[in-house]
Amino acid sequence: MNLPLAKDNIDYQFLFENSSDGILIHDLNSDLVVSANKNCLELLDRTEEEILCKSPINLRPASENVAEEFHKYIEKIKENKKGTIEREHVRKDGTKIYLKINSYIMPAPQENLLVVIYRDITAFRQQQLQINQQNKALSQKNKELEAYVKSNSNLENFAFTAAHDLQSPINTMVSFSKMLLESLQEKDFEEAMEFTEFIGDAAVNLKALIKDLLDFSRAKSVQYHPETFNLNLLVARLTKELDFSIKKQKATINIDELPNLFVGDRVKIRQLFQNLLTNGIKFKTPDKDPVVDVLFSEDATNWKFQVKDNGIGIAKKDFEEIFKLFRRLNHKKKFSGTGIGLSLCQNIVEQHKGKIWIESEVGLGTSFFFTIPKPD
Ligand code: ADP
Repeated sequence: MNLPLAKDNIDYQFLFENSSDGILIHDLNSDLVVSANKNCLELLDRTEEEILCKSPINLRPASENVAEEFHKYIEKIKENKKGTIEREHVRKDGTKIYLKINSYIMPAPQENLLVVIYRDITAFRQQQLQINQQNKALSQKNKELEAYVKSNSNLENFAFTAAHDLQSPINTMVSFSKMLLESLQEKDFEEAMEFTEFIGDAAVNLKALIKDLLDFSRAKSVQYHPETFNLNLLVARLTKELDFSIKKQKATINIDELPNLFVGDRVKIRQLFQNLLTNGIKFKTPDKDPVVDVLFSEDATNWKFQVKDNGIGIAKKDFEEIFKLFRRLNHKKKFSGTGIGLSLCQNIVEQHKGKIWIESEVGLGTSFFFTIPKPD
């Protein structure tokens, strides 16, 4: 078979000159560029005088101290006979392009020559960066959507639990009202008085539930408004407001020096301390007057608080339970409450991007710990 053109007759110089890639030949013995095609000069924005008979390291800005990196790369190419890198190239007018650079050692007897092929991948890279950015934005949107779905299902649970818990005092009121009517018809006034008391208690319970629920949903829905304030003043004011129950329970409250320049949502932080202090006073053992300590420490990134009491304590198995909405442990008759306070505390700490946890021993006391990250 006769080939139309023998391989030896192809004009490789012509191909070299007209390649759409930039090509240069680097003599590794002398470390000089011996040839560069037209596209190479255009792409790198250099004249023949600036490139030929110079080391290719001159193509990099003098400010980039890359000599060591360059020699390592050349050694690696000598070892593998080829190499690929991608890097930025600064043109003379300061514009930056992104290059993919493939290098090949020529076969013997010209193994001292390195063919360096430059391809402009700026557009490709920009597309890649754009896609990465879009992916990031998309995954952020996804997270927001997940949080939205979660908050919606939380809301459904919340409405369900709220309706369920509100029904209990209402049921008490309905059934005792009927019994009250019967007692009155039978003129049994003593029984009527007792039933009236039950109805009154249920109404007080309902009122407390509604108030706490309102506080809870308000705190959840109201945006987090951080401001800088003196936490010492806020807690001092709060303990003054709690003076009545402190005196009634013969409680002692000790407070560490707290940050003067605390950053957080003033209203929510007040609710947080109020709930923890009130619980510390409320859940007391019959034989000890309550002592509640507010302890403070800090590290470079967080403020850390501990609200410690000497009360009835909490069993380990209930550590997570008590943060759930309406969850109260088995002493409802002894201690008043709605089971909303700690859910609110958890919510407030999370809104501040902090953590809340508990350590406790039954009969000895409980410590609620929480951290609030310092502003950057
Ligand atoms: P409430 O105080 O209205 O019952 P909370 O949500 O504040 O509701 O607390 C939930 C439950 O966690 C309480 O009913 C109680 O069983 C338990 N608890 C909270 N704080 C303490 C504490 N300091 N010591 C012992 N038990 C506590």
